[in-house]
Amino acid sequence: MIDKERSGRDGLLVRAGSGRCLGATAFVLATLACLVGSAAQVARPSVPARGGMLEDLPGLSADPSESQAADRGLYYSVYRVVRGDTLSDIADRYDLTLDTIVSFNDIQNARSLRPGTLLKVPSISGILYAAKEGEEVGAIAAKQEISADRVIEANGLMSERIESGRTLFLPDARLASFKLREISGDLFRWPARGWITTWYGWDKDPFTGARRFHNGLDIGVDTWTPVLAPMDGYVSDTGYASGLGNYILLTHHAGWSSIYGHLQTISVKRGQRVSTGTRLGYSGNTGYSTGPHLHFSVFKNGRSVNPANVLH
Ligand SMILES: [Zn+2]
Repeated sequence: MIDKERSGRDGLLVRAGSGRCLGATAFVLATLACLVGSAAQVARPSVPARGGMLEDLPGLSADPSESQAADRGLYYSVYRVVRGDTLSDIADRYDLTLDTIVSFNDIQNARSLRPGTLLKVPSISGILYAAKEGEEVGAIAAKQEISADRVIEANGLMSERIESGRTLFLPDARLASFKLREISGDLFRWPARGWITTWYGWDKDPFTGARRFHNGLDIGVDTWTPVLAPMDGYVSDTGYASGLGNYILLTHHAGWSSIYGHLQTISVKRGQRVSTGTRLGYSGNTGYSTGPHLHFSVFKNGRSVNPANVLH
C-alpha cells in the first residue's frame, strides 16, 4: 500500500468526538523534550548517478518485457509510478526482490511513494553497497553470503581490492530484514485494536479550540482493553503525568521508542524487557482525556513519527 493517506486509514473508520487526548503533547514537551520533533521521514525516491557503474539505457519504460536475461549484464530501465502501484508489485513485475528497488532508489519510506516518481529498475536483483576503508570483495561477499566472483564480474573489478567509498552492486544480496521492515513501514503491531479518534498532526484541542500538534494516534478502546507491546524493547519509564495519565515509555532498537498514555493500570516495571505481544497494561481514561482511549506515540531518534506509517 503506497498511498499514505489510504494505507493509514484502511479498515479503520474515523469516529470523531470521543476518547481524545488533551495534554499529552504538553507533557511530552515538558518531560521528554528530547523526544519531540518533526514529522515522519519522507521518501526521497531519486534516480542518482552512480559513477558510471551502471550502463544507462535510454527511454522510459514500464514494460517488464524489456527486462533482459541476467547474463546480458547489469543495466537498468526507469519506471514511472502510477496511482495504485506498490513497491512489491513493481518488484514482482520485473522479477526483482523488493530490496533491489528499495536499494537502487534510496527509498526510506515505501508508504509515501508518489505517482509520477521515477524509479530505477535494474536488470538483476541485488543491492548497492558503499565499500568501507580496506574492505575486500571476499569479505563483503562472505558477509552477504553471495559469490565473490559474481561481485567482481558485475562490477568489472580487476582485483579483490576496492577503493574506499566505491559503490558496489552486490548481485543477489538482500537488505537486513529489520531495515526492510523499517522502510516498508512494518515495524509496529497495533498495541490495541480500536477506532482512531485523533490522527497524528495539527488539530484543535476539543475543549479550548487552540491549535496543537498531536504527536501520536488516539485509539478509542474501552477501559480495561489489554495494551500489548508492538515491538521488542525495554521499559525505559513508567509513571503518572497530568496530561498522559498513567503512561509507559518503551525503548526499542535502532533508535525507536514509543509511548502509551491514559492507561488504567501498568503491568510492567522500569527496566523490564518486553517482547512483541507482552501485555504492558490496560487502557483507561486517566490524565487529561475526554473518554477511554489509548494515546500511542512513536519516535525515531527522538523525533516523532506518524504511527500510521510504521504500523502493520
Ligand atoms: Zn493523544
